Amino acid sequence: MKCRMPPKEPFHGYLVQPAPTAAEPSAPPVESCDYCGATTLTWRKCKLICDNCAQINKSCADL
Ligand SMILES: [Zn+2]
Repeated sequence: MKCRMPPKEPFHGYLVQPAPTAAEPSAPPVESCDYCGATTLTWRKCKLICDNCAQINKSCADL
């Protein structure tokens, strides 16, 4: 009795596409005001100030 070779297996993992490492961003990184949600933020004197409600969202020290 001869020892038979197992049938050739298909290549596993050959056509497997690489999984995306990070989730696709649903929206572009637009900065918005933490207080009113407006996107009209302006850097003034090292502070990111909302043009709509004038709240300070960020400052240079936060970066
Ligand atoms: Zn605001």
